[in-house]
Amino acid sequence: MEEDKSLKLLQRAVPLLLEWYGVSKRTLPWRGTKDPYRILVSEIMLQQTRVETVKGYYLTFLEKFPTAEALAAADEADVLKAWEGLGYYSRARNLQKAAKTIAKAGFPRDFQGVRALSGVGDYTAGAILSIAYDLPCPAVDGNVLRILTRLLESEENIDDERSRKKFREALREVYPAQAGDFCQALMELGAIVCVPNGLPLCGECPWREICRAHQSGRELDFPVRSEKKKRRVVALNVCVLRKGNKFALKKREEKGLLAGLYEFPVFEGSPPDFGRVLKEKRAKHVFTHLEWHMTGQLIEANEYFPQYIWATKEEIERGYAIPNAFKAFTEWLRT
Ligand code: SF4
Repeated sequence: MEEDKSLKLLQRAVPLLLEWYGVSKRTLPWRGTKDPYRILVSEIMLQQTRVETVKGYYLTFLEKFPTAEALAAADEADVLKAWEGLGYYSRARNLQKAAKTIAKAGFPRDFQGVRALSGVGDYTAGAILSIAYDLPCPAVDGNVLRILTRLLESEENIDDERSRKKFREALREVYPAQAGDFCQALMELGAIVCVPNGLPLCGECPWREICRAHQSGRELDFPVRSEKKKRRVVALNVCVLRKGNKFALKKREEKGLLAGLYEFPVFEGSPPDFGRVLKEKRAKHVFTHLEWHMTGQLIEANEYFPQYIWATKEEIERGYAIPNAFKAFTEWLRT
């Protein structure tokens, strides 16, 4: 960054953004609250899940666990069940751990304290402190970096932690008193105007007159990133075994990917002969570093194979959290 000029440009950008946010922000269920626990829940849910999906879960989750104390005291199985469909379940476990800390010692009010909560990184800590307490704690994630590198035409590689730090520090210098609105306005601009995929909607952007990348027609040259590592692809056979009105399930290992959740019998190689195949379909699920390419079969099982848990559709819906990765096959529970 040409430090001085960039800082001046950022200073001009702040009031324009706040004014735009005042009239253009979306109505979202977590907007408007200053309750740090509710903000924590929304931020954790939003970490790896789209806004549209989170909308459907946030209020229901808070009805079940309205306070940190309620979440701290809940059964882990109930928490995971309420999280079912949001994916990345370690977030739910961490959230409950954080709730236990908060229930004991109250919600922390400084960066170190919030950052020390389980599952909370720099971005989430910044967002909570800005939104709940209007503190000048920048929350800088990929969205914020995209809009800032475009505004400033900055060649900083945003995958480099040092660049993130530079942007955090630059933002701290221009943070206005309405820290919560500013933090959310940055996120909102990245979500609905200066979008990650496809062309940004510069015509609707409050920064269109001052944005350097827009002035030079180089919007898509930013942000600069390191080359992406390829995801590992794993081919899996998923066997949905049905006998009478029951289905076979297996609990996953307590550690690692989707730990402790339930799945249909899954095989990396060919599955054993369980019975007559009724239906077959393919599905793909993409994790951060891994892709599952799945071939699923609905099978009329020859017997109640004793290595599995057998449960009805209703029992599964009540008590067994099956990860979203198997969504294409859970549809068969209704057949
Ligand atoms: S003018 Fe365009 S490129 Fe620049 S910040 Fe706005 S939407 Fe992004």
